[in-house]
Amino acid sequence: MNKFEALGLNDELLKAIEEMGFTQPSEIQEKAIPVLLSEMTDLVALAQTGTGKTAAFGFPMIQNIDADSRTTQGLIIAPTRELCLQISKEMEKYAKHYKSINVVAVYGGANITEQAKKIKRGAQIIVATPGRMKDMIRRRLVDISKIEICVLDEADEMLNMGFYEDITDILSHTPNDKSTWLFSATMPREVARIAKDFMNSPQEITVGSKNIGASTVSHEYYVVGARDRYAALKRLSDAHPDIFSVVFCRTKRDTQAVAEKLVADGYNAAALHGDLSQTQRDLVMKSFRTKQIQTLVATDVAARGIDVDDITHVINYQLPDEIETYTHRSGRTGRAGKSGISMVLITKSEMRKIKAVERIIGKKFEAKQIPNGMEICEVQLFHLVNKIKQTEINPEIESYIPAIQEVLGDIDKDELIQKMVSVEFTKFLNYYKKAKNLNIDAAENKGNSASFGDSTRFFINVGEKDGYDWMSLKDLIKDVADLGRDDVFRADCMGSFSFFNVEAENVEKILEAFDGYEMDGRRISVEITKRKEGGGNRRRNDRGGRRNDRRNSGGGGRRDDRGGFRGRRSNDSGSSGGSGRSNDRDRSFGDRKKSSSYGGGNKSDGGFKPRRKRRSDW
Ligand code: ADP
Ligand code: MG
Repeated sequence: MNKFEALGLNDELLKAIEEMGFTQPSEIQEKAIPVLLSEMTDLVALAQTGTGKTAAFGFPMIQNIDADSRTTQGLIIAPTRELCLQISKEMEKYAKHYKSINVVAVYGGANITEQAKKIKRGAQIIVATPGRMKDMIRRRLVDISKIEICVLDEADEMLNMGFYEDITDILSHTPNDKSTWLFSATMPREVARIAKDFMNSPQEITVGSKNIGASTVSHEYYVVGARDRYAALKRLSDAHPDIFSVVFCRTKRDTQAVAEKLVADGYNAAALHGDLSQTQRDLVMKSFRTKQIQTLVATDVAARGIDVDDITHVINYQLPDEIETYTHRSGRTGRAGKSGISMVLITKSEMRKIKAVERIIGKKFEAKQIPNGMEICEVQLFHLVNKIKQTEINPEIESYIPAIQEVLGDIDKDELIQKMVSVEFTKFLNYYKKAKNLNIDAAENKGNSASFGDSTRFFINVGEKDGYDWMSLKDLIKDVADLGRDDVFRADCMGSFSFFNVEAENVEKILEAFDGYEMDGRRISVEITKRKEGGGNRRRNDRGGRRNDRRNSGGGGRRDDRGGFRGRRSNDSGSSGGSGRSNDRDRSFGDRKKSSSYGGGNKSDGGFKPRRKRRSDW
């Protein structure tokens, strides 16, 4: 008997489960499903994002539905339209082998009469956002007086968004003897209040922070000056050329502003927030899914529905007001068994919040330093070199070869390599040459940064493509060179290569251990990138930089850490867009041509224009 069968699920569901490729129930599923199948009970279930909550309520709801009746029997309320759609699609998959279970999604920003028509045809299950549901009830387009099960999904988020009244309003139209199942990642006071006011001695299930698969999210913070947040964001992006990230801001205004700046600076970025029209949001999400957008700048609310699996980094441009929300943010990465990094930019005065977040996530943060200009140049240089190596030769180039040979044929190979790489390298070197140190001394990481003083940075030719992340890379190096637990630090894993630091006394050990070292028949080589200078220059030109920042807004001059580094968006060079893949994300450093983007926009006044508000779902 398979594990799902043991939970009491019937054949129709088991078949669908097999087709979806689920082999093991997740912890929340294992705990919730048998209870919900065997008794009519209210339930409060707490589990983090990505733990499989949809199936935990979806399977038992479907099994409890009378498919022969067309009456609406199940209602699922979720905070956003994206989630609504996601849940209803999942539910349809689960119910695939039932002949006549209809699931209808009801959400704002779409035609209400259409939705009403679908319900009229017979919807046993409705998945709805609170605002639209309330609307439909008021206009008598839906009858929920006979529902047997009501699910409140992402309850904490709905209450955060101010849906308390809407929810209580909706619940007042449902029968008293229904079962209410509340699912939430966290249990703030308002959620407890819902449980107390609207549920009958609910059972409680809590599962630990385990996500499905061996996904791991590591948490890092960077202490910067409040005015340096944007510069720091750019550095972090530049230090990870293959980054695919969501940047969280606290307000719609910041979200829009940061996205616009990134676009102006040549990044593939766009904003996602509630003041954009539905069409705009759909476009942004589509471009993000297809990776034409590398950096999505989003509000918490707007990002709730994002179910993109390979997000490499979540960047907290600011910490959220409600620190519980951090869990939702970091849960956007490290999905589907991949590892991810959640980075937080904080000012010195916010340091104590890190402790609070650590308590909530039950994990420690690593204090990290914003990379300096040279480090970024190194990363970009090796990225370029690797890209050249991996580039397939374009047959179209052939006819030009004789002419090119004529120009370059006499240059010997070594020199040619140096020249080629210099074309790009000089540009970013120039850009970052005078870049200031953005790190602020926080009492906590003083020790750390001092110890970087005379450490040595190494390059190693293994990286993420070989299945490593910074943790496993550290382990590899420690094993090979027989070093202690904290001897390898600042490991940064890139696509096909990585960097790490060791103290001076361990440099020889590394060089010896890796001399001629092979792994799976492949030569693993390490090289010293450069020796670190002493750490005495922090904050040296803070002031100059700031003044510059202000003055620059009108002029065209290049300012420190603004503009320039990234070139245009790749799409500009392509035909009509739509097929942009990572390897045409070329950057020509220094090209500052403005490019428009969905959320960014190149409005002449550069200002923020609030668009029509749609209250119901945002
Ligand atoms: P949550 O609502 O807790 O954030 P979801 O229900 O959205 O999580 O599930 C997250 C992902 O895990 C989805 O892609 C889902 O298809 C997948 N999933 C759910 N249950 C299982 C399972 N038992 N085995 C494998 N994958 C699962
Ligand atoms: Mg969910």
